[in-house]
Amino acid sequence: PSREEIAYFGAGPSGLDNQIAVAASQAFLNYENSGLGLAEISHRSPEATKILADTKAALTQILEIPDNYEIILSHGGGSGQFSAIVFNMVAMWVEKRRRKAMEELDGDEGRVLERVMKEVRTQLRLDYILTGSWSLKASQEAAKLVEPLGKDIVNIVVDARKTSNKGKFDNIPEEGWNLTPNENYGNDESAFVYYCDNETVDGVEFPKFPPQLETKSDKERLIVADMSSNFLSRRVDVSKYAAIFGGAQKNIGITDITFVIIRKDILTTQPSNSFLHAVGIWSPPTILHYPTLSASSSLYNTMPIFSIWISLQITLLLLTTHHLSSPPLLGQEHLSHKKSSLVYTTLSAHPSIYNINVPHPACRSRMNICFRIKGGDEGAEKAFLKGAEERGLLGLKGHRSVGGVRVSCYNAVGVGKVERLCGWLGEFAEKEGR
Ligand code: PLP
Repeated sequence: PSREEIAYFGAGPSGLDNQIAVAASQAFLNYENSGLGLAEISHRSPEATKILADTKAALTQILEIPDNYEIILSHGGGSGQFSAIVFNMVAMWVEKRRRKAMEELDGDEGRVLERVMKEVRTQLRLDYILTGSWSLKASQEAAKLVEPLGKDIVNIVVDARKTSNKGKFDNIPEEGWNLTPNENYGNDESAFVYYCDNETVDGVEFPKFPPQLETKSDKERLIVADMSSNFLSRRVDVSKYAAIFGGAQKNIGITDITFVIIRKDILTTQPSNSFLHAVGIWSPPTILHYPTLSASSSLYNTMPIFSIWISLQITLLLLTTHHLSSPPLLGQEHLSHKKSSLVYTTLSAHPSIYNINVPHPACRSRMNICFRIKGGDEGAEKAFLKGAEERGLLGLKGHRSVGGVRVSCYNAVGVGKVERLCGWLGEFAEKEGR
C-alpha cells in the first residue's frame, strides 16, 4: 500500500507527516543540492548550526518559552532523562545547601562540608507522583541512583494504583498527595517534584497543570514533567516548570533526540565535582550534565542533525498550519481534543462492546486511548485488530503489559484517519452486537 492508504496509530515512534517524509527522503540523499545527505554532514558545519538554531527558535515561538529557560537537545531518549534529572537536580539541591551553609557558617569550609553531608543523609528527598508505567519507571531509576545515599530518599507522593478499583494505573488521585515538606520529613523542600503529563502505556493524562502542585508557601517547588507523549499537543505554561523533557519520537520528530527545556538557574546552581564527591554523591556523567550540554549549544558530542532537521520541519509545519491561532498551540490543542473526542464518543456509544480502561473522562488521554473489547475477550480483540489491519489501520495493539487496543492520536494523525478508524469501530461493534 502507499503511505496515504495507511492510517498509523502506533504509540511510538509515531507516523510522520507525509510531506515531511518525502522532503526528508530527499534531504537524506542530497541536502539542498550539496551532493551530501543530511546524515553525512558534520554536526559542527554551518548548515548544522543553522538547523539547530532554527529548531530552538521555532520551539521557543511555539511554546512561548520565557528568556530564563534554555533548550537542550540530547541523546538517550526519555529514559536517559530519568537519570539526568536526578543527577542535575540533586546536584543543584546540594549547591543550594552549600551556599546557605557558607553564609550561615561564615565560610568555614570544614563545618559547611559536615553540615551538607548530614543534610544529604537526613533531608534529601525526591518527590514522585505515580500515575502510570512511565512515572513508575522514572521513580525506580531514581531510587536505584540514590540508594547508596540512604533509604526513603524517593518519596512517593501518591500512587494511583491505590485509588483504582482494579489496582491499576487508571486514574489521577485528587487527594492524599504527600508532598515534601510534610510531617515525616520536616519543613524542607524536595530536590524536585516529578510527574508524567501523559502516561503512554496506561492512557492517563493530566487535564491541566496539577492544582496540587501550585505553590502556596514560600517554599518553591521545582516541578519536572515528562511530556514525551503529549508534547506540542496543547498549550503549556513553561514558567511553572523547572524542567520539561521528552523523547522526540511522538509529536516532534523521529527517534534519536531528546528535548529538555530547563530553567537557566539550574545550570548556574551547580557545585564543583569535588564538593559533590566530598558529600558522597556522584557527579553527573558528562553526557547527562546539563551545564556542559548547554555551554556547548547541545553539541558536546555528535548530534543526529538529520533527526533535528525533521523536528525543525515539524515545528515549522505547526507554526504555519496554525498560524492564525494565537497563542500558537491553540489550533493543535483544538485538533487533539477533536480527534480524541471522536474516538471516545464512538467507544462510549457501544458500551457492551468497548470498555475504556480509564473510567473518569477528565483524566483520559487525548494521545493514547486504551480500551478492551468485551471485557478483554481475546478472540474479539484479535478479530478487531485483524479487521483493522485489513483496512490499513495499523499500530493498534495495546501495550504488552496492558493488552487490548491502544489508539495513539499524535499530531501527525489527521482527523480523516481518525474518522476512518471510528468507521471500523462502529462497524465492528454492530457485527459483534448482533
Ligand atoms: N516517557 C514516556 C511518557 C514515554 O512514552 C516513553 C516511551 O515511550 C519514555 C518516557 C521513554 O522514552 P525513550 O524510549 O525515548 O527512552
